[in-house]
Amino acid sequence: MRFRHNRSGCSVFGAGLFGVVRNFHAQVVNTIRLVVERESLQEAVLTGAEQLHKTEHALHTTELRFGHVLESSLDGFWDWDIINDEVHFSPRYKEQLGFNDHEFPNEFSSWETRLHPDDRDEILAKVHAYLKKTWGYWDEEFRLRHKDGSYKWILARAVPTLDPDGKPIKLTGVHIDITDRVQAERKIKYLAYHDWLTKLPNRMLLHDRLGHAFAQAKRTRSRVFILFIDLDRFKHINDSLGHPVGDAVLRKVAKRLVEEVREVDTVARLSGDEFAVLIENVSESENVILIAENLLASLRKPFFEEGHKFYLSASIGISVYPDDGNEPAILLKNADAAMYRAKSTGRNRFQFYSEELTKAAFRHIKLESGLRQALLQNQFQVYYQPKICLKSGRILGAEALLRWLHPEEGFISPQDFIPVAEESGLIMEIGEWVLKQACAEAAAWMRQGLVFDQIAVNVSGIQIQHIEFVRLVRKTLESTGLPAGCLELEVTENFLMKEAETSAGFLGDLRQLGISIAIDDFGTGYSSLSYLACFPVNKLKIDRSFVRKVCVDEQNAEIARAIVNLGHTLNMKVVAEGIEQEPQLEFLIREGCDEGQGYLIANPLSHDEFVAFLKHYASGFSDFRQSGTSVPHKSLVCD
Ligand code: C2E
Ligand code: MG
Ligand code: MG
Repeated sequence: MRFRHNRSGCSVFGAGLFGVVRNFHAQVVNTIRLVVERESLQEAVLTGAEQLHKTEHALHTTELRFGHVLESSLDGFWDWDIINDEVHFSPRYKEQLGFNDHEFPNEFSSWETRLHPDDRDEILAKVHAYLKKTWGYWDEEFRLRHKDGSYKWILARAVPTLDPDGKPIKLTGVHIDITDRVQAERKIKYLAYHDWLTKLPNRMLLHDRLGHAFAQAKRTRSRVFILFIDLDRFKHINDSLGHPVGDAVLRKVAKRLVEEVREVDTVARLSGDEFAVLIENVSESENVILIAENLLASLRKPFFEEGHKFYLSASIGISVYPDDGNEPAILLKNADAAMYRAKSTGRNRFQFYSEELTKAAFRHIKLESGLRQALLQNQFQVYYQPKICLKSGRILGAEALLRWLHPEEGFISPQDFIPVAEESGLIMEIGEWVLKQACAEAAAWMRQGLVFDQIAVNVSGIQIQHIEFVRLVRKTLESTGLPAGCLELEVTENFLMKEAETSAGFLGDLRQLGISIAIDDFGTGYSSLSYLACFPVNKLKIDRSFVRKVCVDEQNAEIARAIVNLGHTLNMKVVAEGIEQEPQLEFLIREGCDEGQGYLIANPLSHDEFVAFLKHYASGFSDFRQSGTSVPHKSLVCD
């Protein structure tokens, strides 16, 4: 192509070129824009595909992970489409209940019909309530029947899927077998509420049941009784036969108590040898008395353990809701106080609570700690009450009687503190002290040339039964130098008859030492004549309660007369204690009673007073009998 080279020609050419260039430029720009757009579109497509791929991959991984979790988890899964009422249970779910996949239909009823009858209504009601007001997780524990018929504890927890209105259309959840955990929890709870030895409810469970019983009694306006049972002298079984035997006996005691009460009543073990019985829905206290009597009678039957046969008894304190307290702890405390009273009035009995009883219980506690001090601080003394021969008036000796001079309370009667000492076991130490003291003082009087035959020492049943007691007596005689013939031991009739089976044995061992034995308080227990005849006993002591009334009550006179005759028939001497009046003395002399003691002759005297008494009446007491006075002879000693 040739170009025209003139100005105008140039401008025409220029104008045409410019247009071409401009078009070209627009095309290029457009092309570039398209390229850029295509590239960015390509990039966008590429990114989207990559993203999609990534998402797919993540989804797959999650699915895989979820599948692994499902497979490896011991928990079952379930999914309930509420709208279409379709349920899916995972194979593991079915396995938990002992089924293969095909054996357990994917239906709501498969679950519902396996619910434990005790849980069914409650759980279905809870499902219903949850669907009505869906909030948070659904979370419940219940029992489902396994294929083998047993029940499994299940924890089910689910998340809801909600429609746009917030209504649940689906529940998806896990199904966890928590049977082992529940059983472990139950075991822990059982252990916390039961006594390991007897398997009876313990104090905690009793408190719980008392609380319920009170609430029930309040509604029905009825009464609740609590019987506090404490075995008498159980410590002795533990000490002499060992703890394994003691444990076995406690188990047998528990069994007997349970057998004696109705199934609805609760028998609990509180501690050691303490039990309690909770009795509800009894209208009359007479019925409770009947139960208490049956319990006592059942415990009195002999126990056989490891070749030993022995007897137990118990003391029972009874308190009543609402009369004696409206809180479990108070009612129990008051029943305990009543039990103490039953113990101190002779054991093997029951006693109802009253306000005065609580004070007595506090006194018991105070006395026990006081007794420990008394031994350490020499607050004890032995007094001697002279005994005379009712035929000759000769002084035969004395009965050693323990005296406790309390620094604040003054004189405390042995009748009050001996039962406390027996209960706490302190009687062993106290009894040993009395024996040693009396033997040592009597031996000293002999060495001084004072004349008397015997000194009598009271011994508690707990002491005399102890395996070491015979040895203690022998050693005491040796160390003090008192001849065995000069010592007499007084044991109560009550104790001997309760321990009738074994009494003959230990009494025989003691007699072999050369000492004599007297049965104290004779007539107050229930002696079996056949036992009495074979006991190696030297004397019967007519209880002062009979002596007091020999002149006013013919029946008492007959009893005293019968005891004198019985003693003589069995070749025993008979002693009367508590002679206060001349006519009583006359009666006893007339009936042939051998020996006597009492305020009429002399009060219990201190050591020095007794020595003076022995010296003064060395020639006998006959002058007194002739004079017929009834002045207590403490005054005679002092003249
Ligand atoms: P017990 O062995 O029957 O002792 C006789 C009790 O009668 C003594 O009471 C005595 O003081 C009291 N007494 C004496 N003369 C008369 C009287 O004319 N009329 C009346 N009403 N009572 C009289 P005490 O000293 O208070 O002893 C009471 C019980 O305590 C004793 O009864 C005995 O069972 C026990 N006891 C006393 N000392 C000891 C002891 O060292 N060891 C043991 N285990 N028990 C003891
Ligand atoms: Mg006595
Ligand atoms: Mg007596």
